[in-house]
Amino acid sequence: MIAAAQRKKPIQTLIIDPGHGGLDPGATGTLESEANVALQVSLKLGDTLARAFPDMKIIYTRTTDILPGNKSTIDAALKYRANLANESGGDLFIAIHCNSAGKRPGGWYERRVVGKTAHTKTVKKGKKTYKKTYYEYQYENVWVENKAKGTETYLWAIGKNDSKINSVSKNNDYDYTGEIDSTSTLALPDPSDPTEKARMLIYTQNYFRKSLNLADYIQEEFKDHGRIDRGVKQRNDKGIWVLQATGMPSILVEIGFISNKEEEAYLVSPEGQAEIVGNIFTAFKKYKEKLESKSKDKEDGEKKAF
Ligand SMILES: [Zn+2]
Repeated sequence: MIAAAQRKKPIQTLIIDPGHGGLDPGATGTLESEANVALQVSLKLGDTLARAFPDMKIIYTRTTDILPGNKSTIDAALKYRANLANESGGDLFIAIHCNSAGKRPGGWYERRVVGKTAHTKTVKKGKKTYKKTYYEYQYENVWVENKAKGTETYLWAIGKNDSKINSVSKNNDYDYTGEIDSTSTLALPDPSDPTEKARMLIYTQNYFRKSLNLADYIQEEFKDHGRIDRGVKQRNDKGIWVLQATGMPSILVEIGFISNKEEEAYLVSPEGQAEIVGNIFTAFKKYKEKLESKSKDKEDGEKKAF
């Protein structure tokens, strides 16, 4: 019985990581920065979870508009995020970000040819003269709306693929400017290092499926609430450093495109933020219940064995 009382609940400590902050605003919309939206949604998510699960410890990597740990560089802040999660013995890591695409938030003007007029002129070459046609082009500035929208959840994974996950590489999605670690110079772990290799194996065996599970639940919730579901994704080319550096199930939720005017309005509105928080909360609850029912099965199994 002592063992049962001491048995660790699946999620005792949750790390919430609002992306960017301080000198790093992340992507910018026409109204607000990604860093601010991520912080607002993260704090609201934490509040909702704290009320529902008062025993769960919730740790934020930042609660104000600073780089986590008040660090002066993005890389140092990334390391701080991961170290804080690991040293706090986190059981789950949720990073909140906004997506961005295109040349400019909202949209942009593009100069396009809308017509041409032919002219002829007489050209003299030696003793000969002949007519030459040349064209005059008409241009117009055309407004191009920044259309990319929707939600996606990232996992970090290595050496393991799942048909449900689309691998994203910078090259195959021209529309996606992405923000993930784009300014970071931190290298992914070296798989030839035995310590790293062991850690990656643990990640693959223990954390990958769980991360995927939660990511799936979150995307389902978004979809059920009328959001565009861009799916669960992983990024293997450059990786998401903070996800691979955290020794626990970890996900990064892109709650919408701040570069899309309509979606940005939703992202900054109290109603939109409440819905996003509600979606992640419901998914979290499902994930937690699943983990608890699994550990209960295990417990029952142990009893039977005796
Ligand atoms: Zn971001």
